[in-house]
Amino acid sequence: MKKSQVIKFAKKLNSTNLSALRSGNISVRAKEKGLKGFYITPSGKRYSSLKPKDIVFVSLKGKFDKKKGKPSSEWRFHQDIYVNKKDAKAIVHAHSTCATAVSTHQKSIPAFHYMVAVAGGEDIKCAKYSTFGTRKLSKNILSALKNRSACLISNHGQIAFGENLEKAFELAQEIENICHQYINAIRIGIPKILSKKEMKIVLGKMKNYKRG
Ligand SMILES: [Zn+2]
Repeated sequence: MKKSQVIKFAKKLNSTNLSALRSGNISVRAKEKGLKGFYITPSGKRYSSLKPKDIVFVSLKGKFDKKKGKPSSEWRFHQDIYVNKKDAKAIVHAHSTCATAVSTHQKSIPAFHYMVAVAGGEDIKCAKYSTFGTRKLSKNILSALKNRSACLISNHGQIAFGENLEKAFELAQEIENICHQYINAIRIGIPKILSKKEMKIVLGKMKNYKRG
């Protein structure tokens, strides 16, 4: 059931242009043989031909059965997010065009639009660059995700998590949309940024909205 969910959203990565072909990866918290961990998309397989047996289980300690296939080369940051963020139940990582373009500037996205609050704060952070798949990159991502549920990754892409795959996916799409708007905003000059005070009000409203 959870494996087919991973496949469904991995295919959606391609069909919605969040990430083309094999780039980007999807995971969801899971248990196998009493072991806590997560199901993640495999390394080097086209998402259009994924089968449940291709989805790899990785434990929260980072162990997996090599005979059953190789997890995405980027499994480490999935592991670290699940270990450190209790509210992360599913993760979507994408090399979506606009988020990736903005990430090459290695800067946070300021409150040029109140919707940056969907990531959980007054701006959207950008994790420092490190080689893909490394523990160092994983650490950088965790710092950018402090009090946030999504961030950019320098010269790489974006990552979003949520209480289920649907929510994580929606958030990744929202981040892509915000980046698209931001690219257009900076094309015509320097946008006016909303004040911290205003963003506090927005964040408060969003929390209530989520609860309601
Ligand atoms: Zn990546």
